[in-house]
Amino acid sequence: LSLATTDMVKAIRVHELGGPQVLKWEDVEIGEPKEGEVRVRNKAIGVNFIDVYFRKGVYKAASLPFTPGMEAVGVVTAVGSGLTGRQVGDVVAYAGHPMGSYAEEQILPANKVVPVPSSIDPTVAASIMLKGMTTQFLLQRCFKVEPGHTILVHAAAGGVGSLLCQWANALGATVIGTVSTKEKAAQAKEDGCHHIIFYKEEDFVARVNEITSGNGVEVVYDSVGKDTFEGSLACLKLRGYMVSFGQSSGTPDPVPLSLLAAKSLFLTRPTLMQYVVSRDELLEAAGEVFANVASSVLKVRVNHTYPLSDAAKAHEDLENRKTSGSVVLIPNS
Ligand code: NDP
Repeated sequence: LSLATTDMVKAIRVHELGGPQVLKWEDVEIGEPKEGEVRVRNKAIGVNFIDVYFRKGVYKAASLPFTPGMEAVGVVTAVGSGLTGRQVGDVVAYAGHPMGSYAEEQILPANKVVPVPSSIDPTVAASIMLKGMTTQFLLQRCFKVEPGHTILVHAAAGGVGSLLCQWANALGATVIGTVSTKEKAAQAKEDGCHHIIFYKEEDFVARVNEITSGNGVEVVYDSVGKDTFEGSLACLKLRGYMVSFGQSSGTPDPVPLSLLAAKSLFLTRPTLMQYVVSRDELLEAAGEVFANVASSVLKVRVNHTYPLSDAAKAHEDLENRKTSGSVVLIPNS
């Protein structure tokens, strides 16, 4: 059985690396799923900062042209031969490899998609798979946040930042968050951030020092990179954990080991793909995220939706720090 009607679908294509304008709206051919694959008609597509890195060439795509995007929720329209457990009509989500979710339909390995509980709206699910599973591994596995810990979250009103604040608060941590505007501060407060720092105007290292009475924090979750990296190390307490998981402001400079030796610090540069390697890991991470949405530990902020054809505008806003919470693209709108 197949609901797939055509071999041509609309997608965003990148033929040359560069600014948001290189995101072109084109017809692409899509075949039938082969063994072990499913074809999915996307209902909602999550936009992530990693899509910007690939568009600019900070991370290298395998080849040009390519369709960006690493997160979507949709309906299975065809299944490859020999597949059990996946059916036409299933609502599924995926996050991570392969790239190519900025498309009306796409072919995916069946072992990369997870069923979406019917209680969760597809747009909500698409805004929380990649960012939510990232939050899960950062708080539970990369470093284990426990009651009584004090943590620093940069870009606390961003897509991942919003979820980090809510989940860490629920784990019993004291959360310090950095933001650039009053509106973002209000959101971070609502998300359970106990202390807000305006890092464009204030010296965030001095403020963390003050808030923690000179003790520093157990862990810093730093996705801003170049602009914050060194300051983040200075905010850590003895034997603290520096989790550098992104570079929205640019790639940090190389780190001399002597910088870590000063306080016996730990430094890690993790990526989600290496924390959801096996099917069990994927199902566990997605399951925890969906459970936290169902129990309202996580309020999902889908603050910005754009038609899929307007992906360039979504990128422009994300890069210019105009967004908060999640950004989602909707096909056929
Ligand atoms: P965000 O919604 O967090 O957007 C980025 C935010 O970073 C901005 O809104 C802005 O918040 C802040 N920022 C600070 N400096 C800059 C700058 N110079 N340019 C742009 N933004 C800046 O994006 P996502 O939630 O999609 O991703 C957050 C980060 O997490 C990214 O760096 C991403 O690469 C990383 N990430 C890493 C993963 C991993 O596996 N390692 C997985 C998922 C995400 P403000 O205005 O408050 O400063």
